Order: sequence, then C-alpha cells, then structure tokens
Amino acid sequence: MAVRSVFRFVNWVLLLDTSGSPPIFELECISCGTSSEASEAPDGPQEWALKHAGRSGHEMFRAVHTSSFRATRTEVRPSPP
Ligand SMILES: [Zn+2]
Repeated sequence: MAVRSVFRFVNWVLLLDTSGSPPIFELECISCGTSSEASEAPDGPQEWALKHAGRSGHEMFRAVHTSSFRATRTEVRPSPP
C-alpha cells in the first residue's frame, strides 16, 4: 500500500477593505497624551491639534490612522502529482 501526501499551495494577498468602516483618523499629543476625537476625515483632528497647541504650547503630535484590511486567496495551484 502506497502512502501519498497531497499538498495544497495557496497565495494570499492583503487588500484594503472598504466594505465596512472607512479609515479613521486621530491625533495624539506626544507631550501629554491627550488625543482628538476619532474621525473619518482628518480635518477635525487637525483642528483639535492646532487648538491644543495654542492652549498648551505642546507642538508634537502622533497621527493614528486605522484602516481595515482583508486577506484574500488569489489562486490555488495544485501540487505536482
Ligand atoms: Zn498636550
């Protein structure tokens, strides 16, 4: 009786998924750790950062950008016999 193994090789690709939530933007002050509201557009967080800089003198901010990605199989290649 012969034993035979079957291998299946699959390629995957990671793609930006726009079917759910759109990208979310947020800015965080590096000096004190406070952050803007999360927003679907960068305008709100940028305005918050400028106001925060004016009130506190803190000048450095970290941008947080959250997006969803989906792993998808691209092809199925049968293994050689
Ligand atoms: Zn600050």
